[in-house]
Amino acid sequence: MRQLASSARAASSSAPGNVGDVRKANLARVLSVIAAAGEDQRFSRADIAQLSQLTKASVSSLVADLLAAGLVIEIGVHRDGERGRPSVGLILNPARCVMGMEINVDYIAAGLVDLSGKLLAHEILPRANHSAAASEVLAALGELSQRLQVAARAQGLMILGGGLAVPGLVDEERYTVLQAPNLGWERQDLDVAALLPGGRTRFRLFNEANASALAQQQLMDVQERDFLFVSGEVGIGGGLIIDAELFAGPQGHAGELGHVVIAPEGRACSCGGRGCLETIAGQEAILASAGLGAVVDSASRQQRIQQLFQALEIGTEPAVSAVAEAGKSLGIAVASAMRLYDVSTVVFGGHFASLEQWLRPALEASLRVHAPSIAGHARLLCSPLGQTGALVGAARSVAGDLLETPHQLVG
Ligand SMILES: [Zn+2]
Repeated sequence: MRQLASSARAASSSAPGNVGDVRKANLARVLSVIAAAGEDQRFSRADIAQLSQLTKASVSSLVADLLAAGLVIEIGVHRDGERGRPSVGLILNPARCVMGMEINVDYIAAGLVDLSGKLLAHEILPRANHSAAASEVLAALGELSQRLQVAARAQGLMILGGGLAVPGLVDEERYTVLQAPNLGWERQDLDVAALLPGGRTRFRLFNEANASALAQQQLMDVQERDFLFVSGEVGIGGGLIIDAELFAGPQGHAGELGHVVIAPEGRACSCGGRGCLETIAGQEAILASAGLGAVVDSASRQQRIQQLFQALEIGTEPAVSAVAEAGKSLGIAVASAMRLYDVSTVVFGGHFASLEQWLRPALEASLRVHAPSIAGHARLLCSPLGQTGALVGAARSVAGDLLETPHQLVG
């Protein structure tokens, strides 16, 4: 599986003497300058020429192509103190977007994200997907996608591509879910063409935690180039960002904190192993330890999670100990991961974020015991992304790809 590019970058080189490649690279370069403008910044063609170090004539010609492809639009700009006719600035076309989607154990979700990465609309639908046939889940997601496509058309939005995140290992090239134990899927080919019909669309398949890590990256300080994202759901996923790029590893396993072994003699895990972090700190494991019984379906899981919060609010056992135990185990896994990957920032999403006030004391104490030399400068953050993180990350990545390769949309 190839490593995924995480953000729009300026194309900087091309084969010497190959005019086609030079123009492709320059289109991307001009677009990256326009995309990098701040919220209130509007670059004119002259600004773009200066920033891209291209001639004004080249920039005018390249901008004409980008305008014709609908990737950018002109906008009148009044600069401070200026009178008379406004000058013409260029911005990413706000009427072009990408659809992000997610299949998780308890829900399906889809949303529209514009080329700047802003979430325009989304819908999350509770659905029991464990052991459901992939074709049924895809059909339900296709209906959700269809509703958003209709809404997009009504608002004059054009969808240029899509991304789908699933809680498992994926073969991106073949649109195959290799292993998603919490869905009960193995070597499952997905008919993604039916999700987003359209001739020019680009579609990519992501691991859920990797997509969430990419969404989280946009919220981080630019200096924060290395971090581990840990997503807590029924399963526990991990996404590793190294030097501002997602590092998935040659087979996509990198960062999979959920299957780090914490208790060698512990419970059997969905991955076929034993004693993984997921068997202690996954949602089902916490609910079971909290005395909230076996999960029957997703509706009852949501009810039990509410019961867990009620028990925690009033400090009832065994709920408090169950979450503390999860925090302790998470601390052991994080201590090892921080040493192994040499990262000092870990961002927690999903139920780890919503359980923060009860989880954090045990997590920090565990980190101090198991990695005293790094506990002092460890940055343990909680993600605000919630259930939209994976679909936003998937869509932003595809939008980033489109901005890097605008020639594909230039006629
Ligand atoms: Zn496991």
